Amino acid sequence: MASGLSGSTIKSWFQYRCERKTRYETMDPAELAAVPVAKDNRENRWAILGVDFEERVVQRLSQEKVVLRPPKGDKEGLREGLAAEFLRGRGNADYAAQLKLKPRLRPAWLGNNLELRRSFADLVCRTTVRGKANFRIIDVKATRSARAFHKMQVAFYALLLDAVINENAIVGEIDPEGEIWRIPDDGDAEGDRWQVESFAIEPYKRLVREFCANTLSEIASKPVRPGQDETFFHVYFKCEQCAYLPHCIQAVDRDRPAYLRDVSAVPGLSHEAKRTLISMGGKTVAQLAEMGAGIGRMDGAGWSLSRRAETLIARAQAMRDDKVAPGSESHTFLMPPRTDAALYLAADQDPVDDGLVTLGYLYVRGDITRQLIKVLPTADRKAEANALVEIFSQLISDLREIDAHNASLPGGPSNPASIFSHIFVYEAAEGVGLQNAVKRHLDDPRVRHGLLDMVRLFPPDEIVPEPEFRGMQHLPATALRSVIEQLFALPVTVSYDLRQVSDALQRNGFIGNAYSPNDLFHRPFSSLLSIDVSRALREGRPGCPTIDQIESDVAARLQATHAAAEWLRSEHRRRIQAGERAMLRLNKQPFRMQATFDPLAVADLDMLRAFELLENRSGLLETMIKLAQPTRVRREAGRAIGPMRLLNVYKYARSVVIFLSAPPDALDDEIAAGAFGLILSNGEPEYVLEPRMWPQISCELLDPKPNDTTNLRRVRVFRPNFESAVFQEMMRRIGEEGWFLDRSFVDLNTAKADNFISFLAQSGAA
Ligand code: SF4
Repeated sequence: MASGLSGSTIKSWFQYRCERKTRYETMDPAELAAVPVAKDNRENRWAILGVDFEERVVQRLSQEKVVLRPPKGDKEGLREGLAAEFLRGRGNADYAAQLKLKPRLRPAWLGNNLELRRSFADLVCRTTVRGKANFRIIDVKATRSARAFHKMQVAFYALLLDAVINENAIVGEIDPEGEIWRIPDDGDAEGDRWQVESFAIEPYKRLVREFCANTLSEIASKPVRPGQDETFFHVYFKCEQCAYLPHCIQAVDRDRPAYLRDVSAVPGLSHEAKRTLISMGGKTVAQLAEMGAGIGRMDGAGWSLSRRAETLIARAQAMRDDKVAPGSESHTFLMPPRTDAALYLAADQDPVDDGLVTLGYLYVRGDITRQLIKVLPTADRKAEANALVEIFSQLISDLREIDAHNASLPGGPSNPASIFSHIFVYEAAEGVGLQNAVKRHLDDPRVRHGLLDMVRLFPPDEIVPEPEFRGMQHLPATALRSVIEQLFALPVTVSYDLRQVSDALQRNGFIGNAYSPNDLFHRPFSSLLSIDVSRALREGRPGCPTIDQIESDVAARLQATHAAAEWLRSEHRRRIQAGERAMLRLNKQPFRMQATFDPLAVADLDMLRAFELLENRSGLLETMIKLAQPTRVRREAGRAIGPMRLLNVYKYARSVVIFLSAPPDALDDEIAAGAFGLILSNGEPEYVLEPRMWPQISCELLDPKPNDTTNLRRVRVFRPNFESAVFQEMMRRIGEEGWFLDRSFVDLNTAKADNFISFLAQSGAA
């Protein structure tokens, strides 16, 4: 039987890049059932939302324009007669909805083993351009941003309509632009308004044609029958939305022995790395666990495997042995060893309303524990602002208390009664969600005031660097998941989510209680609140967990995050006692609020200033977190070049040019000549995690000269910087070997914007 192709298969290929999913979607359901392939046939929440949103949008459009539509509830698309009239330019309709796109003849770009299924364009807009009918293809999506895979689907419809037009000798053409009508930035999925995202359709058409002619034909020829399934698959976090997950997840089930468990169970493995491993005989977790790190250096290892082999093998071994084992890094600069007062935050996001659904805070200082959790059953922005203010007010008040305590101690930071505090989230995504929520409410003076305090958690810019005081006290928050991933190999499947991580820690006897959600909250690869729960809550659907149950779930996650942080600190102490190297090395000082920012008033211009400050501080924090990664990780991610050898130094009147020899694997790095914010050092935290030092170690990467060898790097340093005590001391310490070029944070806008805003404010006052 020939395989069938529809627009949704095109979209899902470009969304998931999964050969198996594509093959299954082209098969007849009866063939799949015979294999058998387990499928979750419940209607996907996104799909229901999409249909409802499209209906409302088309309904509203038809009040303003002439829209041809199929009868309500009719799944057969627009009647053929009406569609033909529309395409031939007859009648006064501006739009046709649910236009069936099925050419009679096989298009040239479609492989012989494929048949076209029925496809319907959501909307086609008809206009007349230079006397000819012009058809613009529109897809309506209940999404906040149009992604490439949405555009591929529109391009596929354009190809089909092109074929229909040609075979019916219709005088008309496809508009070179396609459109996605999506949820507006200032609207919600329950509304009937839309925002248009236009795009040039030709590049997407080319990719779809290539895919259909080559890759898809190959995929469609893969045998899938009872006892035989030759499709390539890789279970990863995106699978959570796939209807075939009940089938594929069996291959990575923790109850399967490691010698039978598919290698895609190993967290962090990419599609590309899995393909390579299979070709090297590493099909299962046990087989990967037996391999040596040398696989990363073998011919054809590929980018991903060559850079992560050691980490992946350690993870496979941890899974095979069901043991928490040391990872590829022995220490981290992302978390401090001492935290007397820990402040934990949790935040869940509803992707449809683009807002917070929950916000949780747990404060633990010795015996003192405070917890505050807010659940938001509606998308009301005012309620979101209130929740933010309530939670942050409590957090700021706790920090102020610590600040006052530390300020009152004689002897300053060296007083042993000083309190060290730190903020934790489990997932970095929670921090991003909070930051976006703050941005949404900058027009609220209460949020701006809180923001000022949050910004003051960072050290002031203008502190004079003191060489003997190089405490890295800049990171006010830690995403625990990154710390655990960096330091340990855990027996967890596909992802390092809190449920699996805390369960592994509990099984190994490291913590008392794991986060163990009931079925309502259980997700395969994440512990954040699922879209099913947040939509059920907001739409008041039966079977939705109660607000109390959601609060308990957030509380359980905060407790498990606290338990994991405590375990990390105790493991750090254990290693120190055993004479090993320190594991947690973010060397913070006792907490003090910085006092260099003027209070923000409530005028409109202050809102702009607040926005700039927030952007600046979050950009700086993001950079610092990346720079806190080990040099190996930064180099592998293309964010650093090194270790380099110093070849020569040429002094000129105003600058100094340093010749360095880079290692061969630096050739595909992302740091190019002319990049902003480059710093030259030994790559160690004492330099790269010290923003006050950056101006003195800043440099410029020059374009190579025609006869330069591929590993030569010419770096220009401003001569006064080169001659400064800091640079000379660094030269002395590094010597010839071990130079690194890193990207620091440069913000070209904030100072200018701040000056301009001040100028506007003064002009307004004058
Ligand atoms: S669950 Fe994942 S691996 Fe399986 S078919 Fe779906 S996308 Fe592919």
